[in-house]
Amino acid sequence: MSLHTPPGHASAPLAEADRLMTVCNACRYCEGLCAVFPAMEMRRSFSDGDLNYLANLCHSCGACYVDCQFAPPHEFQVNVPQTLAAVRADSYRRYAWPAALAPLFDRNGLWIASIAALGIAVFIAGFVAWNDAAVLFGSHTGPGAFYRLMPHDTMVVVFGAAFGYAILALAMGLRVFWRDIGEPAATLAEPASLWQAVKDAATLRNLDGGGVGCYGADERPTDTRRLYHHLTFYGFLLCFAATSVATVYHYGFGRIAPYPWWDLPVVFGTVGGIGLLIGPAGLLAAKWSRDPALRDDARFGMDAAFLAMLFLTSLTGLLLLALRATPAMGMLLALHLGVVFALFLTMPYGKFVHGLYRFAALVRYARERRQMAEAPAAGG
Ligand code: SF4
Ligand code: SF4
Repeated sequence: MSLHTPPGHASAPLAEADRLMTVCNACRYCEGLCAVFPAMEMRRSFSDGDLNYLANLCHSCGACYVDCQFAPPHEFQVNVPQTLAAVRADSYRRYAWPAALAPLFDRNGLWIASIAALGIAVFIAGFVAWNDAAVLFGSHTGPGAFYRLMPHDTMVVVFGAAFGYAILALAMGLRVFWRDIGEPAATLAEPASLWQAVKDAATLRNLDGGGVGCYGADERPTDTRRLYHHLTFYGFLLCFAATSVATVYHYGFGRIAPYPWWDLPVVFGTVGGIGLLIGPAGLLAAKWSRDPALRDDARFGMDAAFLAMLFLTSLTGLLLLALRATPAMGMLLALHLGVVFALFLTMPYGKFVHGLYRFAALVRYARERRQMAEAPAAGG
């Protein structure tokens, strides 16, 4: 990667991305691989906002590196996936809200691990302080078993506040991203663009390397990374659905947790939890073994920390489910709640944000592509 920073860009990765997009715009060999190259072709020059948009469109499949005749050792040194990964990671820091917390993206793995350890310690200390040993290490069954250790209303206030803060911080970050790429707010309300982006995100269309798969440890493409990503994403959605259904049960029907194994919150949580074990573990292994030319080693800690948080959330949740009728339930509940609390708090300051900005970039791309398709018809 070039180390000099030409004027007009805020960082060396952005300057390098400008150089590469200029080369690629002349070459255009990769235009069928993903959304990045068609979006690039709609531009003749690249502002920082354009480059951040293109970087967040890239799904890092690696195809354009393997296919590139100008990749190292060629003197042009074209490595689009690695350069866009560096730009993308810098953009997370740039869009962080409040800006004072942007440094959490530096040494992100260490921060996330520290916050997780603190969250777990606080919940365990709280459970020990507020419960008699007989309650903490007793066996509890039937409706309301969990709430004998932590009152339901306290849980709602603590987790509602953490989740509400995360949503606010993520929304503010999205606002900064949207402004930076110069897109009007109205695009986010266009049904056609939104629907196309939902389909692209749900199928990870841009992670298929132009139809052959994603590149990992060697030059043979496979679909395993996409599979692990799907397990992670849909596992997360199912766990969220489990919590949502349980909330409806509680407030709508007066049905109090825990629920029997055949009930929807448990079925969703179990299936989603298994996905959240296999998916993050697989993604971490794939990341570890990936060709170094495709990795962004400087940001490995951020990726690993987020995957570890998802894995731990699922592991502690499934253990709690399996052992909820035993004396281990009290400490497992403290452990699980500590991990979930830390996950909520760190969502706006870790790899979780990639899903948000990538989805927003896909919305913009859908709008641009539709306008391009309509332009000749309008002109003719
Ligand atoms: S990555 Fe290489 S082959 Fe692909 S468009 Fe750019 S310069 Fe051309
Ligand atoms: S999505 Fe794949 S083909 Fe497209 S720019 Fe990123 S690494 Fe290259």
